[in-house]
Amino acid sequence: MHVSRVLVSASLFGLSLSASSCNGKWATLVQSTLSSSTTIQCAAANQRWSDFAAPSPGAVVTVGNENDVAKIIAAASKTNTPFLVQSGGNGWADTFNISSTGIIIDISQLKNISFNKNKTQVTFQAGVTNEDMINAAWDNNARVSVSTCNCVSLLGATLGGGLSRTQGTYGLNIDNLISVNMVDASGVKKTVTPKSDPQLWWALTGAGANFGVVTSATYKSQPVPQAQNTAWTGLVFFNESQIEEVITAIDQLTLEPAMQMDIYFTASPLDGKPGVIFLPFYLGSEEVGRQKFASILNIGSILDTTEVIPYNTWNSAGDPFCTDGGRKPSYTIGLKKMEPTAWRNVWNAYTEFFNSYAEANLTTILTECYPTAATAKSVQSDGSTSYPFRDIKCYAIAIPWYTSPSIDAAAIAWGQQVRSYWAASAGTSCTSSYVNFAHGDESLAQIYGSSLGQLKQLKKKYDPYKRLNQWFPLS
Ligand SMILES: Cc1cc2nc3c(=O)[nH]c(=O)nc-3n(C[C@H](O)[C@H](O)[C@H](O)COP(=O)(O)OP(=O)(O)OC[C@H]3O[C@@H](n4cnc5c(N)ncnc54)[C@H](O)[C@@H]3O)c2cc1C
Repeated sequence: MHVSRVLVSASLFGLSLSASSCNGKWATLVQSTLSSSTTIQCAAANQRWSDFAAPSPGAVVTVGNENDVAKIIAAASKTNTPFLVQSGGNGWADTFNISSTGIIIDISQLKNISFNKNKTQVTFQAGVTNEDMINAAWDNNARVSVSTCNCVSLLGATLGGGLSRTQGTYGLNIDNLISVNMVDASGVKKTVTPKSDPQLWWALTGAGANFGVVTSATYKSQPVPQAQNTAWTGLVFFNESQIEEVITAIDQLTLEPAMQMDIYFTASPLDGKPGVIFLPFYLGSEEVGRQKFASILNIGSILDTTEVIPYNTWNSAGDPFCTDGGRKPSYTIGLKKMEPTAWRNVWNAYTEFFNSYAEANLTTILTECYPTAATAKSVQSDGSTSYPFRDIKCYAIAIPWYTSPSIDAAAIAWGQQVRSYWAASAGTSCTSSYVNFAHGDESLAQIYGSSLGQLKQLKKKYDPYKRLNQWFPLS
């Protein structure tokens, strides 16, 4: 079907969308039922973080309020119109199956955030990004657990588990969820808490995209005055000849609850050439932070930019990764071990790819490491969430980054090669791939781990017609 790029606004008189311009069968059904702030745009998919395997819908409906999400899903269900919900647009998986007969329900404009009086809870809508939440929390003398990059939607990350720099102290994002308002696969609104429907809650907290569209949520918040809302962090640059030493030290370091660390192979901001950058994070003072990470810092870096910085800048180092557009078919694996020889192979593969394609000079190997003991034991070990990988220490991701589709085949081969180096030395009995970082070529057992069997059963109950089937579908 040929679709034109026509922007049609809902008005008091209903949507004036013609069948010839934009997925008309479906639009006729929702006509005049949506709020005036909801818009429909034909064909032009919203900007996404990666253009590789991006959905190609017949229409993008940008919703103005939560009720409209329910109406749109009900109409889509009645007409068997495939739909995909999009918030931050950062999902890079190749599991999308949306073409001109399908629609994207864009929830990114749902931006309300409100704190309770004593700042122990925050209620927010589905379009709220990590950056939105950080800024609101900062203004409210509060600290809310968010993920590492500003552009990611807080709920998008949370529904897959939600890794966070502070997860050793406050748990994964899912451990901070108190209740959600969602729309189910047939367009019915529900409020779900751990008590109201324990099975659905369990499924939502790790495989959420398969079970509902969450339009808003209530989440834990910590009252922390701005002056105390700080951490010690920053970039530490190493020489490539130190890779084995750095990797060994990272592998041997047991992270305490207040600690977190990343390591990158990426174009160095110092000279644009491939570099090795370590990023320690300590929820405390510089003095204690340096002691905790001494085994790595004592290797001797080229440059150490760490300092104590306020909560509203913790994510700043990740801002370059938030750049939309380009092709980034990424590959991941969960690691309990980091083996120096494997990482030398990864470095060699990284520099070879980087040097082979001038336009791929933002290609990055990113590895995030978290304190497993805290998330596995002290925070939430009662099995009330389906996130299966609380014992994984490090999440490694190979991100090829370029614009020309002619590089796709080489990028895919490169990403798979890097992943195989890691897989051979991951220290796990089964290969694991965190759903939010996975590529889409993995088995469902790799994605959902020990939760898979139960999730499949619940999928039959809560989504029997397989409508929520765009993000690592369980059926
Ligand atoms: C630059 C970057 C940094 C990242 N950093 C982190 C990190 O620190 N920690 C971490 O855990 N993950 C991180 N991720 C992964 C991220 O959590 C996932 O890509 C997540 O799915 C993105 O959600 P989104 O709404 O931003 O993107 P989208 O592409 O809009 O969403 C991805 C999928 O999630 C589902 N979804 C999103 N919102 C909802 C909702 N409200 N209800 C139901 N389903 C929904 C949809 O199926 C959608 O297709 C990062 C990704 C990128 C690109």
